[in-house]
Amino acid sequence: MRRSFHLISADTPEDLIQVYIDHQNWKMRAYACALGEIEEGDFPFSTDECRLGIWLNAGGIEQIPEQERATFNAAHEQVHLLGYKALKEARKQHPERIVEFLNDMELASDEVCRVLLERIEDVFTRLASLDSLTGLPNRKAFDAQLSYNVSLSNRHGLWVGLILLDIDHFKSVNDKYGHDYGDQVLVEFAKILECTVRLEDHVYRWGGEEFAVLVFDKTPDGIELLAERLRDRVESSAMSDDDNQESRITISCGAVSIAADVTISEKELFSKVDRLLYNAKKQGRNRVCYQTLESN
Ligand code: GH3
Ligand code: MG
Ligand code: MG
Repeated sequence: MRRSFHLISADTPEDLIQVYIDHQNWKMRAYACALGEIEEGDFPFSTDECRLGIWLNAGGIEQIPEQERATFNAAHEQVHLLGYKALKEARKQHPERIVEFLNDMELASDEVCRVLLERIEDVFTRLASLDSLTGLPNRKAFDAQLSYNVSLSNRHGLWVGLILLDIDHFKSVNDKYGHDYGDQVLVEFAKILECTVRLEDHVYRWGGEEFAVLVFDKTPDGIELLAERLRDRVESSAMSDDDNQESRITISCGAVSIAADVTISEKELFSKVDRLLYNAKKQGRNRVCYQTLESN
């Protein structure tokens, strides 16, 4: 599977949020039992029996970064052990020791919560960089990759290539077949782009029916060839939805190759590539307009 389609199948953080709440509930129940507010009943003392433990054993542990697993598991064990000790003291009517154990349990629990909250934040950050329809990275993800590509190209003398693609007359696809069909075409289209570029290239949904491709190349020609290949591949592919309703689309592309020693702001770069895309549309669509940027 290609990189970004792999990403969309990544877990949403719902299960992480749920086990975070479950852990907090377990702790509140331990407090209430230790302070004699509720009966112990079938309180799950073992780390295998609480909901967090059940989730971890069912594969949730894979979501905890490998380097954090040992401390996370140790903290979880500590929470249970200290909760158990607090309850034991409660049974023996030793309130002064209960407080001590509960304080330490709180500290161990802070570590469990820290790891879970960091994971939840990671997943949200990643999801915020993905387009929910196509699973491609979105514009937000582009900025970081562009500065990475520019610094790498400076170091290795490579060309950075940017292609901006816009589906031709896409409004009429929606008008003719409906918006849901249009959505499925966008999904199919994204797959074609992903399968046509190299694994190290990056495809983004720029917004609406506009997409961007960011690449490296040893020569400037490679970028124009790629834009042409994408245009040709899209033109020759039949788009279809779940009901096998077929349609054809074409794209217009603006493409630039930037030499390693050229300094250009992201704004200038986009205004150039946008202008080229505009020219491709003006010249009749289903074509590539291309420019090389070299230092004087
Ligand atoms: P042009 O060749 O000049 O680009 O024509 P166009 O019809 O593609 O361009 P226009 O800007 O007039 O219309 C863009 C269309 O793309 C209209 C909008 O509804 C559609 N569109 C944008 N985002 C989505 C989406 O997420 N799903 C669907 N189904 N349609 C979308
Ligand atoms: Mg457009
Ligand atoms: Mg369009």
